[in-house]
Amino acid sequence: MPNDVLNGIVLRVTDYRESDRILNVLSRERGLITVTARGSRKPKSKLAAFSTQFTFGEMEVNERAGKLQLSSAAVLESFYSIRESYEQLLSATRIVNAAEHIAARDIANDDLFVLLYHSLSVIAYGENDPKDTELAFFAKLMKLCGYAPSLTYCLKCGRDLRGEKEVRFSNSLGGSVCERCGSAFITVSTLTLEALRRMMLIDITELKRVRLPEAVRKELVPLLYDYTEYVFDFKLKR
Ligand SMILES: [Zn+2]
Repeated sequence: MPNDVLNGIVLRVTDYRESDRILNVLSRERGLITVTARGSRKPKSKLAAFSTQFTFGEMEVNERAGKLQLSSAAVLESFYSIRESYEQLLSATRIVNAAEHIAARDIANDDLFVLLYHSLSVIAYGENDPKDTELAFFAKLMKLCGYAPSLTYCLKCGRDLRGEKEVRFSNSLGGSVCERCGSAFITVSTLTLEALRRMMLIDITELKRVRLPEAVRKELVPLLYDYTEYVFDFKLKR
C-alpha cells in the first residue's frame, strides 16, 4: 500500500515494547489516528523528534493489517516553549486531552485542528496568561461542537438578564438562569458571562489578545471546566 502523507499534532505518547512509541495524533486530513513509531525511543531514531507530545509535523504513514505505522516525519513546530512553565504545560495538556476526547477517528475536522493549532501556538509563544488562551479554547470548542451556552436570557422564564449583576448558570439547561428560577445553580456575574460570550465569537487569530480580569478568570475556570465535563462526559485534569 502506498504511503499516506498527513499533517498532524501529537496529542498523546505511550511507550510500547522495548523501543517503540504509540502516538495519538490529530491529523488535519483524517482526524484522530493512532500511529506506531517503531524504534522511536532509540537514541538515533529519525522518528524521535516528532514522537513527543504537542509536536506538529508532516508524517508519512503506511497501513499494515489495519494498523498505521510511521515511516518518516518532519517536525514543523515543536512548541517546545510550552514546557517552560508548569502553567503552560497544564493548560496545553488539558486542551490536547479535550481534543483527543472529542475528535472522531478517521474523520477530518478542520475547525478543531485549526483551533488546537492556534491555541497551542499562543500558549507556547503568546504574552497573555496561558489560562486565558485555554479558556478561550474551551469557549470556542463549545461553539464548534454545537454546545454554545445561552447567556442572555433566563432559560426557564425567558427574562432578559443583561441588566442583572449576577445570575445563575446551569449545565443541564445549557446556560444562564435568573436568580428567581435558578437558586440551586451556581452564581456567576454577568461580566463573566459577557467575557465568555466574546470568547466564543472572536476570530482565531485574536486568541493572543485574550486578557481576562482576575475576577472573571476565577469565576470562569470552574464554570467552563464543569460545563465541558458535563457536555462531553469526561474528566479534565485539575
Ligand atoms: Zn427565570
